[in-house]
Amino acid sequence: MNKYLFILTFLTAQMMMSQNEQPNIILMIGDGMGLTQISSGMYAHQNTTVLEEFKYIGLSKTHSLDQLVTDSAASGTAMASGVKTGNGVIGIDGKNNFKQSILEISKERGYKAALVVTSSIVHATPASFYAKVHSRNYYETIALQLSEHEVDIFAGGGKKHFIDRKDKRNLIEEMAGYTFVEDISEFEATESKKIGFLTYDEEPPNLIEGRKPALDKMVSISLEKLENQGAPFFMLVEGSQIDWGGHDNDMNYLLAEFKEFDKTLREVLDFAKKDGNTLVIVTADHETGGLSLVGGNYKKGKVKGKFNTEGHSATMVPVFSYGPSSEKFIGIYENTAIFDKMLQVLDATKN
Ligand code: MG
Ligand code: ZN
Repeated sequence: MNKYLFILTFLTAQMMMSQNEQPNIILMIGDGMGLTQISSGMYAHQNTTVLEEFKYIGLSKTHSLDQLVTDSAASGTAMASGVKTGNGVIGIDGKNNFKQSILEISKERGYKAALVVTSSIVHATPASFYAKVHSRNYYETIALQLSEHEVDIFAGGGKKHFIDRKDKRNLIEEMAGYTFVEDISEFEATESKKIGFLTYDEEPPNLIEGRKPALDKMVSISLEKLENQGAPFFMLVEGSQIDWGGHDNDMNYLLAEFKEFDKTLREVLDFAKKDGNTLVIVTADHETGGLSLVGGNYKKGKVKGKFNTEGHSATMVPVFSYGPSSEKFIGIYENTAIFDKMLQVLDATKN
C-alpha cells in the first residue's frame, strides 16, 4: 500500500472510531433555574458564570400535559422519558403507559448511571429517571423502585424512606450488592462499583443552614469513580434547592444554591474538556418564583429581585450544551425534545 494512502486510511479509521465511541452524557438540572435566576447568580458573583463557556444555547417549553405551569414531576418525566404527563406524575404518560427513561435506556446499552442531587434521592426530579408512580408523594414506593434498580452511584437525602417504612422492610439491607457510605470520606475511599450515599434522613437542609457535603465535591468524586469503570456513563446532577429558594421568595437562599451549582458546573465542564467525549446539558425543569431582576450593582455583587409567585412560572427555560452533538440542542423546542436528542446521541453510537 502507498504510504500516504496508508496514513489516510489510518486517520480515517481513527476518526470513525472516535465518532462511534459512546459519549458520556451528563444532564445537569437546576430546579427552578430560569434565566433570571442565572442572571442574578451571575451578577451577584463577580458578573460571571461557568455557563458563559457553553457555546450552544436553546430554549425549552416546560408546560405539562394539561397545565401551562408544570411541576417537577411532569417536567422531570418529559426530560427523562420524552413524554408530557400530568403534574405530580412520574414516569407514566397521559395514557397510563409506563415509560423507559434515558437512564434506563443507556443502562441497557452498557452505560453506567449516577444520580447526584441536593434534595432527597426520592424527590420528583431524580425519581423521574428511575421510578414510575402516579404520585410524586409515594416516597416509599419510589425508594423501593430505586432499590430494585441498577443505578451504579446515587447520592442524596431521604434515608428514612429506605429504613423507616410502613412495610417494615429495610431496603438498605436488601440492597446487598451496594456499599452504603456514611460520609464524604467514605464515599471517596470506597472501591465498590455500586454505591449508595444517603446524605440525610430527611430532605437535606439548605446551604446557608450548613448542608454538607458540597454538590461539587460529590460530583467530582462520582466522576472519578465513573471514569475508572471503563464504560460510558449517564449522570444526572441536580441543584435541587434553587427551586426551594424561589418558593421561599428568598434571594439569598437562591443565590447560595446557584453558586454551588455553578461551582459544580466548573467541575463537570473541566471533566468534559479533558475527556473530549462527554456531552454536558444544563437546563431547568421550570422557573420558580416568577423572578424579575429590578436593581442592584454587579460591581458590589448586589442584586435586587422581585418575586411574583410562591409557585412555578411557565416561562421557557434555557438549555446550555457542550461536547459531542451539543449543536443538537440549539433552537426552541418542547422539554420532551431533550430526551429525544439524548436518545439520538445514544442511537448514533454503537455498543
Ligand atoms: Mg427537583
Ligand atoms: Zn418547585
